[in-house]
Amino acid sequence: MAEKKNAAKELKEKLLMQRKNAIFRLTDKEVAVCDDFCEGYKDFMNNSKTEREAVETSLEMLKKGGFKEYKAGMKLKTGDKIYRVNRGKALLIAIIGKAPIAEGVRLCAAHIDSPRLDLKQNPLYENEEVAYFKTHYYGGIKKYQWTTIPLSLHGVILKADGESVKVNIGEDENDPVFCVSDLLPHLANEQMKRPLAQAIKGEELNIIIGSRPFRDDEASNAVKLGIMQILNEKYGIIEADFISAELEAVPAFKAKDIGFDRSLIGSYGHDDRVCAYPALMASLNCKAPKHTVVTVLTDKEETGSDGNTGLCSSYLEYFIYDLAEALGSDGRTVLSASECLSADVNAAFDPTFPEVNERNNCAYVNKGVCITKYTGARGKSGTSDASAEFTGRIRRLMDANNVIWQTGELGKVDEGGGGTVAAYIANLNVDTIDMGVPVLSMHAPYEIVSKIDTYMAYKAFSVFMAD
Ligand code: MN
Ligand code: MN
Repeated sequence: MAEKKNAAKELKEKLLMQRKNAIFRLTDKEVAVCDDFCEGYKDFMNNSKTEREAVETSLEMLKKGGFKEYKAGMKLKTGDKIYRVNRGKALLIAIIGKAPIAEGVRLCAAHIDSPRLDLKQNPLYENEEVAYFKTHYYGGIKKYQWTTIPLSLHGVILKADGESVKVNIGEDENDPVFCVSDLLPHLANEQMKRPLAQAIKGEELNIIIGSRPFRDDEASNAVKLGIMQILNEKYGIIEADFISAELEAVPAFKAKDIGFDRSLIGSYGHDDRVCAYPALMASLNCKAPKHTVVTVLTDKEETGSDGNTGLCSSYLEYFIYDLAEALGSDGRTVLSASECLSADVNAAFDPTFPEVNERNNCAYVNKGVCITKYTGARGKSGTSDASAEFTGRIRRLMDANNVIWQTGELGKVDEGGGGTVAAYIANLNVDTIDMGVPVLSMHAPYEIVSKIDTYMAYKAFSVFMAD
């Protein structure tokens, strides 16, 4: 009997797929390396609440790492480390490899915009002696989640004279924060009957910004006036300057360890900075790669990638074209020979809501970085669907380098769906596959990821860049 049992065990190990928790494949020392890596990640998150701030934080790190700004016409050679900023909201990074650029680049693409509440262009108003900002939400959110939490305000205001004023308020311990109110349960009888999607409506996401009127009995809109006076003193702005502003309200929470075992991280904006940071770190630590390595940290993914800072625009293509020309090839040849990891998160299986996933084909927290062959909705609509050949190549690469990975798609068939930038890059004739960290409560003000999975994303991107 005992022998037979062992035979089954052996055969199982040989023939069946293992879906073990990563902890069983790592030593304590290796787990400590994952935890350590995430200390840097939490710092990055606390300083990078918007795409603009993520670009600034990344730039600082790149400059320290010896990367130089790339300007058109600049000569390039093997080993050069360069970057290009697109309008302060997207970032391109490259390390010139030893192989001819005609052999293609290793491209890693993550996004640094996250769902949030944008201020409208005429946001400031007063209602019954309370001052508010009107908002227009950005990206896919469950609106009710954005009430009764502390919000901070980030962005830029372009004044009438063209001067740009930076705003970042609500993050410092001594800063005030802002908040969207909600009804008390005692008086919410009617609201509670609304379907969840309408529990809070778009026009109810109004941010409280003050309540003390300007001292003058005669003045109308005295609270609004009082707030405008403060803003004028602090930022030198007048009301019309909001028209040329990009102000984003985001959760004022800090990134923190979650759980007694500190295995998880809670933060705003894991989607997709939990892939952007590992991609950035992999670029920073990438030494003398064979192929030229390009990392793009893009904007506008959450609204469909349109616009000149999103990946439906030509800015990535132009960059590759510039590199190709500078290195004696042409863009079309380079793109056609290139490979890309579309580094974006996937939904982690949530044991409290198991019904939306199909358990054999979804990602789990702590089972490693997730490879997603295709995304899309319904009949794979809107996906680039990586080929079996390219999926096989990535799989071999990960296994050869002991990267702990799993595979999963976004939810059950016909449950919903979603996409990433993979399709737009694949459309440039680049072999592309999605790979990223599983996230719990995706698009909520406070999302959750595993430290081990986050580190495995870093390891995966690193070995891809080095190959
Ligand atoms: Mn994403
Ligand atoms: Mn997203």
